[in-house]
Amino acid sequence: MENKVYDVVIIGAGISGISAARLLQSKGFDVLLIDKGRGIGGRMATRRVSVEDKDVYFDYGVQSFTVKLTPVKDLLHRNKIDRHMSLWTVEKNKRGLYLRGGNRVLAKILSRGLEVKKGEKVISVNKFRNWEVETDKKKKYHAKYVLSTAPAIQSLDLINKSNTQFSNEQLFMLDSVKYSANIVLLVRMNKKVELKSVQPVDKDISIVINNEDKGIKQEYQSFSVIFNAEYSENNYTKPDVEHLWNFIDEYPVIDRDNVAEFNIHRWKYAQPLNHIERYSFFKNNSGFYLSGDYFYGNNCSNVELAIYSGMEAANDIINSF
Ligand SMILES: Cc1cc2nc3c(=O)[nH]c(=O)nc-3n(C[C@H](O)[C@H](O)[C@H](O)COP(=O)(O)OP(=O)(O)OC[C@H]3O[C@@H](n4cnc5c(N)ncnc54)[C@H](O)[C@@H]3O)c2cc1C
Repeated sequence: MENKVYDVVIIGAGISGISAARLLQSKGFDVLLIDKGRGIGGRMATRRVSVEDKDVYFDYGVQSFTVKLTPVKDLLHRNKIDRHMSLWTVEKNKRGLYLRGGNRVLAKILSRGLEVKKGEKVISVNKFRNWEVETDKKKKYHAKYVLSTAPAIQSLDLINKSNTQFSNEQLFMLDSVKYSANIVLLVRMNKKVELKSVQPVDKDISIVINNEDKGIKQEYQSFSVIFNAEYSENNYTKPDVEHLWNFIDEYPVIDRDNVAEFNIHRWKYAQPLNHIERYSFFKNNSGFYLSGDYFYGNNCSNVELAIYSGMEAANDIINSF
């Protein structure tokens, strides 16, 4: 029903948008999430592939995250998510938590009961009596408030195509957020090999994850291989197979003939290299909000910042309604 006026339309069903929506809905707000992707979770990404009726899973975005801030702890506790979490000890300099069964489980649990439109890209947001949010499917959604949770650079692009007014200082800060890229290789094996999750030193690869080590039960063995930012930037457009050969060269235990299939995922905006300090979200005078992992860098992981930022934006909407 396109004439309906939602209380809030949220652009992006990643962890920031979902956390905001969860909080708003718990206070009785009518919320719609719109995501251009085929699924929810954004960079909190776990992929499922069916092979001969058996499922194979790859965690190809977030590996682990902190939970330090009280509102984030409370949200995960209220939604009984903390019981799915384990300590991730592979990355020695980064003792975080992960979700057994794949990190997207977090987004899946938090999004239960929320209204989500998938596969629709928001192309403009304009303020008339209410906000009008237009998508590439030629649909228009209306709302009293809009929250964009797309990466800073994409939110800025949306602002530039819309009649939303942000201050020059806010626009400057948004423009200053830069991201690292990441190439991720997903490999499924025919026969099991002895290779545990490992964080190599001084290599093109920043981490190799044996998905069994994440408690992802599966019939076939799968590895997620995350190449570091420098390699990813310099080799972003190289053919997919070259990344596979690079991995195999580094790990002779992987025999070429034992690779059943592989896939490459390129993240152009994987992780923010800098954060907007002091602020946990942005808003303009007419009810357009921005949240995401690029706000408020305080020694917390990007996932935690994304959740916190979404919740803070939601709280502000609740208080000004
Ligand atoms: C390979 C990789 C490894 C990582 N490892 C870690 C880690 O170990 N620890 C950690 O804390 N963080 C990690 N991160 C970063 C972490 O994934 C992000 O910080 C976090 O998931 C951001 O959540 P978000 O909701 O702010 O953004 P996103 O997850 O990017 O969600 C934004 C959503 O908006 C949607 N969108 C964008 N534009 C539009 C539009 N115009 N219309 C409709 N939808 C739109 C996108 O499809 C996306 O789903 C990693 C990221 C990558 C890629």
